[in-house]
Amino acid sequence: MKMTRRDFLRFGFTSAAVAGLGGSLEGCFSPPVEVPRKVMRTAGKAARIPSTCLLCPAGCGIIGEVLDGRLVKIVGNPRHPNNRGRLCSRGHAGINTLYDPDRILQPLKRSGGRGEGKWTRITWDQALEEMAKRFTALKMGGRAEALWVEMGAPGSRELMALDFLRALGSPTVFCEGDGLGVNEGAAQRLTWGTEAPVYDVSRSRYILNFGANPYESDELYIPLAQRIIGGRMTGAAKLVTFDVRLSNTAGRSNEWIPLKPGTDGIVALALAHSIIQQGLHDREFLSRWTNYPLPRLVEHLAGYTPEQAEKISGVKATDIKRLATEFAQAKPATVLAGRGVSGHQNGVQNERCMMLLRAVVGGIDVPGGCCLPRKMDLGEPRWKSPFFSSLQALTALKEGKGQPDIYLCYLANPAYAMPNTAEALSLLKDEKKIPFLVVADTHLTETGALADLLLPMTTYLESWNLESRPAMDLVPFVSIRQPVVAPLGKSMSLGDALTGLAKRLGEDLSKAFPFGNSEEFMEKAAARIGGLAQEGGLEGLKKEGVWLDPTAKPEYRTYEKKGFSTASGKLEVYSTQLQEKGSPPLPSYIPLKAHEEMKEADFILAVYQPNVMTQRLANSKWLAEILHASPLWINRRSAQAMGLKNGDRVKINSPAGSLTVPVRLTQGIHPKVVALPEGLGHWELGKIARAKRYRSSDFDTHELWWEQQGNGVHPNRLIPAQFDPAGGGAAWNDTVVTLTKV
Ligand code: SF4
Repeated sequence: MKMTRRDFLRFGFTSAAVAGLGGSLEGCFSPPVEVPRKVMRTAGKAARIPSTCLLCPAGCGIIGEVLDGRLVKIVGNPRHPNNRGRLCSRGHAGINTLYDPDRILQPLKRSGGRGEGKWTRITWDQALEEMAKRFTALKMGGRAEALWVEMGAPGSRELMALDFLRALGSPTVFCEGDGLGVNEGAAQRLTWGTEAPVYDVSRSRYILNFGANPYESDELYIPLAQRIIGGRMTGAAKLVTFDVRLSNTAGRSNEWIPLKPGTDGIVALALAHSIIQQGLHDREFLSRWTNYPLPRLVEHLAGYTPEQAEKISGVKATDIKRLATEFAQAKPATVLAGRGVSGHQNGVQNERCMMLLRAVVGGIDVPGGCCLPRKMDLGEPRWKSPFFSSLQALTALKEGKGQPDIYLCYLANPAYAMPNTAEALSLLKDEKKIPFLVVADTHLTETGALADLLLPMTTYLESWNLESRPAMDLVPFVSIRQPVVAPLGKSMSLGDALTGLAKRLGEDLSKAFPFGNSEEFMEKAAARIGGLAQEGGLEGLKKEGVWLDPTAKPEYRTYEKKGFSTASGKLEVYSTQLQEKGSPPLPSYIPLKAHEEMKEADFILAVYQPNVMTQRLANSKWLAEILHASPLWINRRSAQAMGLKNGDRVKINSPAGSLTVPVRLTQGIHPKVVALPEGLGHWELGKIARAKRYRSSDFDTHELWWEQQGNGVHPNRLIPAQFDPAGGGAAWNDTVVTLTKV
């Protein structure tokens, strides 16, 4: 590869030399030279471009303020019906990701052994030719399913990519990791035929929260948090949180009730039992809209008394009875549930217990209750995939039950996101199991470091899509993701890359996927949305950022018109599908064997997502400055019994590995639980994520003051790759660990 003097100066001597010879990536593309110079002035009128945040599944509406071609600020879009102009700290910090000097801005091909860190720069033409050769072989052999595509950016569906993949012959597409609660989704589909419910909490008078943390992090974080706060301010709703840890939400609840991990289900069943015993249940709903006779349900619940629940969960029977009465009398009332409920080997049953509790008070699709999701139909192609998540895909790979010819990760990082990091790395490194690994991402992630081909992707601030999220106010809407600035360097959107690929895959694919670029596709996609064309079409969306039918009103009890999307048309308290899988057909508590066999010195490890961090954001300079350490939460009394004081270091040992961390003593955690935050402890992603100070075009990178403190730890190194067989989702919160003072 010829290197001009300009290139030499552009990329720096060392990096240019090693890249040309197949050397380290370190520093290759820092600084991104195409970034317009930093804008320091405070006067001038910025262009305001609406778009959609992609930094968590909530998909808030944003406005990018752009001066002289440079994004200077991200604010909330007040027209967006879900977030109504508000953003979280991560949303504002999205600007760090865009202008991160560690971004990958050049296609790269592996030139050493897999994971050895040696790369050769190639052009996009070369990258697409390489992919076309391999994709053609699959297509000709009628083996499209041997292309495995792992999609990151949970909550978003890349419409253009899905259209392309459909045209290619429906390969195997699944989601990254297990971020969206695979067990929770499975339980809901089994029970009422859909997933991702909307909690109509601004109208609730009473909210029972099991293991969700909406004041800090949630799939609908900012939209949900502001409605809970609104409901509590205006309707004086009571919020009661059951959680193993004093989360931000628990700390701001009227009551926090700690319980033993994985026992939420039996508490919910005991609440249901107590409500029915007091005659406070919704007899009409249970009789008419569930598929199980009420007298037999009463018999089933007879074994789940508050006293029995107290023995197992530690929650006092008197509290269960009191809360059952309050909850059932304070209509409308609802039950929130998070990964603390479903991230267990009994997660599907736990979530089914939550669904039953909602149904017992008739709180299904009613004002203030748990509502069926309303989303706009974007005409997205759908086909069945054998896996929901990378955990299921890599488990199949490990067990020899499936194998790709090509594994394409788009904004997905299974090497980091999967439980049991050591095992995930070994699978992804194995060239016999994964012959060709393509990673399309904005940064050199842990998975990217193992790639055969690394494609530089645009960020969400430089790319197109149409987005639909569950509507908090029950009127479906569509929002646009559009570039607020031009793509940096040689980064390209997935849609544009696939357009180039389609042209190389023969006439039939060019005809089936006949788009010149992403914007052209967006015109067609917008035309698929009923009513939008009359209201301004894509141009209107580009201007406002969001569209909903102005005449539409929220509707409740939609099941009365068309039933539930289940085989019986009812809410399936009794699931024949679960029965066929050998799981209890009625919502039940399944004890966790490892927890029952715990010894005196054992703890259960819980993981939580802090409000400023996700696994993709650890290289954000603003967010990493706020959070870069992983102290282990431990109950003060448990710690003192071990002779531990604040800041002492302990080695955490689990069946999957060990980590050494300082402890933080607190009263805000169950005495048999210890907890670590997610999102830290990266060994790739970027220098800030690794707490390394460095010189770049952004002088802040030299101001990194926490280098000595390190970058925290990654709890997935401790968590075995085990899951709930009924749902296939990971058991994030079941790991039994021991602690040793070091
Ligand atoms: S909650 Fe925060 S990170 Fe998530 S979409 Fe909204 S602004 Fe972005």
